Amino acid sequence: MDTALADRLAAVDERIRDAARAAGRDADALTRIVVTKFHPASLVADLHALGVRHVGENRQQELTAKRAQLTGIPDLTWHFIGQAQTNKARAVRAGADAVHSVDRARIADALHHAAAGDDVLDVLVQVNLTDDPGRGGVAPDEVDELATHVAALQSLRLRGVMAVAPLDERPARAFERLRRCADAVKAVVADADWISAGMTGDFPEAIAMGATHLRIGSAITGPRPTRD
Ligand SMILES: *Cc1c(COP(=O)(O)O)cnc(C)c1O
Repeated sequence: MDTALADRLAAVDERIRDAARAAGRDADALTRIVVTKFHPASLVADLHALGVRHVGENRQQELTAKRAQLTGIPDLTWHFIGQAQTNKARAVRAGADAVHSVDRARIADALHHAAAGDDVLDVLVQVNLTDDPGRGGVAPDEVDELATHVAALQSLRLRGVMAVAPLDERPARAFERLRRCADAVKAVVADADWISAGMTGDFPEAIAMGATHLRIGSAITGPRPTRD
């Protein structure tokens, strides 16, 4: 086992506890998702041995492959946090326990139609906090409309909002906008109270704003291998 991995995980968890305490929040109520994208399935197994139960992936093929390699580890929750393509909806749905990146009605519809039997998939509306419409996520003023659309799809359970903070703005300021979007979603579905925010560079600010699900990669895994 990689002791450096254990040390980094412990250090991040301590920073999560510190940030929660500073914000008057209960750290045990936060879900720390370790983003394992680009890393091999063996890293996910190592993290599981260290007690990690929530992992995040951003590409469907990688998610599908790792999950297949780790069928011996059933008590992992897999979060899909990447751009979802409609023609991959079935595979995303089969591989993910929660999809954080629903940013248009079409992908919500595709995930809904990919349901097998009566299973229900947890989904979040991804919000674009930048001025660049090319980035993933729905514009803040369209959150209400998309949330209403998702809420009507019976095989999806709308849980809340997700966002990545822009690089050119103080994260705390951007997260304030996300918080307002979270309230807009709660006005549609009262118990949709997840706020997925906070990465290696900004998770303390996300905790201060009210994030419930942190998506932390490199601070725990170390640098990502370059991708082919
Ligand atoms: C890669 C990624 C993360 C984790 O990023 P780090 O900076 O390594 O913590 C979080 N969220 C999304 C959507 C990502 O793609």
